[in-house]
Amino acid sequence: MASVRGCSTVIVNGMEGEPLSEKDGWLLTHAPHLVADGAIAAAELLGAREIVLAVARDGLAGVLGPRGVRVVRGPDRYLSGQESALAGWVRGGRPVPAARRPADRGIFVSNAETFAHLGLIARHGADWFRSAGTAAAPGTLLLTISGAVARPGVVEVPVGSPLAPLIAGSSGAVLTGGYGGAWIGAQGARSLWLEPEAMRERGAVLGPGIVSVLPATVSGLSDTRRIVRWMAAQGAGQCGPCRFGLPAVAADLDALDLDPGALPRLRARAELLRGRGGCAHPDGVERLVSSALDVFAHELRAAA
Ligand code: SF4
Repeated sequence: MASVRGCSTVIVNGMEGEPLSEKDGWLLTHAPHLVADGAIAAAELLGAREIVLAVARDGLAGVLGPRGVRVVRGPDRYLSGQESALAGWVRGGRPVPAARRPADRGIFVSNAETFAHLGLIARHGADWFRSAGTAAAPGTLLLTISGAVARPGVVEVPVGSPLAPLIAGSSGAVLTGGYGGAWIGAQGARSLWLEPEAMRERGAVLGPGIVSVLPATVSGLSDTRRIVRWMAAQGAGQCGPCRFGLPAVAADLDALDLDPGALPRLRARAELLRGRGGCAHPDGVERLVSSALDVFAHELRAAA
């Protein structure tokens, strides 16, 4: 567990800011006792006096309230679930990313899945937890599967499992890691293993455990345009990449069919987003756009 000097507060992040993610809500509905056990174990280990559960929707507090957990309802925005934004908001500030890390304010923030894992480790021990998954990444993963699949929903699999059985029967490109993730082509997705490093090597992203298959009738570039416009609107407007870069990239994407200069401009502007923001929000957009230009290159050629 991350070291938090003088920890006073443990925050369970159940904000589900990513539109395609359902797993925190699923956990808080189906296994709130595990999340509560993990939060209590973390608070005891860190010496925290307070446990806060942050949710974006009513009805997710479940059995956590009666167990000494303060439940707060946060603003339903993408960036509200970012750790520093959430820590600042719980302390009475604006729900926007901040330079100061939560750990420097005596706050430990993690998502509901991590606390559920902690709850299970407290109950069954570390060896039991390591009996699933890989040596480098032990345990299991919760994934939200959506889009053009036969069985959408939240599933739990050991780390290192193949993706193919989870999207069997589908044939489209796959968005991995959600709106700040990366596209991977149909063929590559079907030989992908669900382990963070293995995914990174193939250009995919585990992120918040999102796998969404593009329907055969939907253009990948059109879907990327929709997502980038939405992401541009979510930026907190504090840094240049969010204020100017994301709207410019969204405009270039929209202009791809009309303006021959839009593609080189888009590549250059996307590149400029990388590592320039106060948080990783612009990096996610850059990764999404770059992967889209690669995976949907056939759409670009058809439009040329
Ligand atoms: S990059 Fe965007 S979201 Fe991140 S801190 Fe700067 S303005 Fe906020």
